[in-house]
Amino acid sequence: MNVLIVYAHPEPKSLNGSLKDFSVKRLEEAGHTVQVSDLYAMNWKALLDAHDSVERQAGERFDPSRESKHAYANGLQSKDIEREQEKLKWADAVILQFPLWWFSMPAILKGWVERVYAYGFAYGVGEHSDARWGERYGEGMFAGKRAMLVVSTGGWESHYSSRGINGPMNDVLFPIQHGILYYPGFDVLPPFVIHRTSRVDAAKYAEVSDALGQRLDALWTTTPIPFRPQNDGAYTIPDLTLRADIAPDRVGFAAHVE
Ligand SMILES: Cc1cc2nc3c(=O)[nH]c(=O)nc-3n(C[C@H](O)[C@H](O)[C@H](O)COP(=O)(O)OP(=O)(O)OC[C@H]3O[C@@H](n4cnc5c(N)ncnc54)[C@H](O)[C@@H]3O)c2cc1C
Repeated sequence: MNVLIVYAHPEPKSLNGSLKDFSVKRLEEAGHTVQVSDLYAMNWKALLDAHDSVERQAGERFDPSRESKHAYANGLQSKDIEREQEKLKWADAVILQFPLWWFSMPAILKGWVERVYAYGFAYGVGEHSDARWGERYGEGMFAGKRAMLVVSTGGWESHYSSRGINGPMNDVLFPIQHGILYYPGFDVLPPFVIHRTSRVDAAKYAEVSDALGQRLDALWTTTPIPFRPQNDGAYTIPDLTLRADIAPDRVGFAAHVE
């Protein structure tokens, strides 16, 4: 299998750096082919702007979606974007690995998503009708591929528990897991989260890497998070609201998990 690790940490000797190296080795030893997009090492351009197309459309006003659609459809995207899209097409599984910074991914990784997820590639795909609302949330370019987050946090596990002060980890990660990964079609595996990183020493590292190794070994067999597909009848179209008779007591993020 082909595995792409998109990795965002500025320091190779960090905990994240060590765990990324560990993952590459573990996956390769299991016979998989691995590519790493090491965003800091690549000096990845994080800002989506008018330079993302090698030939801008005429007109003074820069419209990010329209420009992305035009560049993607006409082979005018900048090469760095194209290269990452090729890696995504190549991958059977994608791992996004990052330290949690301000309750989300580091800006460089967000910028990777914004630029690489072009109109016509990751969004704006498929028919819009009374029965379907595009190919997204369970359908789309990445259908059949798996994705998983590997995330480290300074906060403790209890801080991210169901009544923890930071909010439950599933809620914190929902915009990434449901919005960035499930939206374009990935089957999203439960995240691998390392909490309270300041306490990681050699003994804890051995424990963490062992647990991560087990998750990597089970990359192809782990049951994905059962997010609800958009076009299978659970949502009314076009208002895209969960039907009143489905999980009537559930609201918010949890309502979108079967
Ligand atoms: C801008 C910013 C925003 C943040 N926002 C949040 C937030 O919203 N929520 C939150 O919970 N946290 C937050 N944090 C904390 C952040 O998530 C952690 O600092 C980060 O996850 C630690 O990962 P690291 O790879 O940088 O660890 P490092 O600092 O590199 O390492 C952590 C520990 O692991 C040890 N270690 C590293 N490698 C090894 C190895 N190979 N063997 C044994 N021990 C090792 C180190 O000695 C160190 O003690 C934030 C931090 C920053 C800088």
